Amino acid sequence: MTPWKKNWLRKEAPKSKESADRFRELKKEITVMRKQGEPPLKDPHSFAQYMCDLCSTPHPISDLRQCVFCGRWACDACWKDEYYTCKSCAGIIKIRTMMGKE
Ligand SMILES: [Zn+2]
Ligand SMILES: [Zn+2]
Repeated sequence: MTPWKKNWLRKEAPKSKESADRFRELKKEITVMRKQGEPPLKDPHSFAQYMCDLCSTPHPISDLRQCVFCGRWACDACWKDEYYTCKSCAGIIKIRTMMGKE
């Protein structure tokens, strides 16, 4: 595991300059769908559930996590603990990591 990734797993905002640069670069490539802190969509068919932005299925709010890159809300199945992002952003990060110099 590379240092920037470890850093990332612990904290959402990386501190070192190098990882901050990577974070910025990734942010340029990822389309932001929601602002940070913006709530998930309510499931129109139930009062207590919210929609996963990736697979569009309803889940209790406690099951959804907001991706720090695209801002989408992801359920467990659409979340990548490895990167602490949604599945879609994790795919982009994975490609970038493979193309990186490390
Ligand atoms: Zn999902
Ligand atoms: Zn994402």
